[in-house]
Amino acid sequence: MQAVKQRIAAAALAAGRDPATVGLLAVSKTWPAESVRAAARAGQKAFGENYVQEGVDKIAALADTGLEWHFIGPLQSNKTRLVASHFDWMHSLERVKVAERLSAQRPDHLPPLNVCIQVNVSGEASKSGVAPDQVVALARQVADLPRLRLRGLMCIPEPDGGAGVLRERFGLLRELLGELRARGHAVDTLSMGMSDDLELAIEAGSTLVRVGSAIFGTRTGVRM
Ligand SMILES: *Cc1c(COP(=O)(O)O)cnc(C)c1O
Repeated sequence: MQAVKQRIAAAALAAGRDPATVGLLAVSKTWPAESVRAAARAGQKAFGENYVQEGVDKIAALADTGLEWHFIGPLQSNKTRLVASHFDWMHSLERVKVAERLSAQRPDHLPPLNVCIQVNVSGEASKSGVAPDQVVALARQVADLPRLRLRGLMCIPEPDGGAGVLRERFGLLRELLGELRARGHAVDTLSMGMSDDLELAIEAGSTLVRVGSAIFGTRTGVRM
């Protein structure tokens, strides 16, 4: 955890940015609630989960901790109610139907669900996320939903492209966020950067890096 925080601070300073403008989301998928509790004791507040049921179980086990939970995995429309009821953020929005369900199912006693639209910045190389030229249209639809709060954009570039390609992908996400701002959306979040590429993401303007293995260790088992 401290090593990751130092990497974030060093990358921010190298980019001429205040380290406080880069948030850290600890991706705890596949790790048990006790691992989350240990990270929370070390001061970490925000955690990311990819699998709905695994996340909901951990949230219940850690209900006493007041942590912030982010859903970052692919979401089928039959699982939206669990995300709407238990999470604070959803990063992987890519369909208006899912957005409508999340808004309709968000319980009244909770604040609006924070959402990021996931963008397919890699073209053919990735199946998840909306195409860059669909972002403005989906953002407009999301902004009309009363129980969602559009916060920004998220991407997962292809891992094997090298630094030049990653810079291009992260730069595209930043440009798209600027386009949303120019159209009047009060968006503030660029969810980009993981264990292996957080420096490049911060250089390109990331406000929230999603880091798993560099905090918790290498995941084992089939679900990566
Ligand atoms: C697993 C995962 C991460 C973290 O990946 P690491 O390489 O372990 O840091 C970040 N974002 C998403 C969407 C993930 O699924």
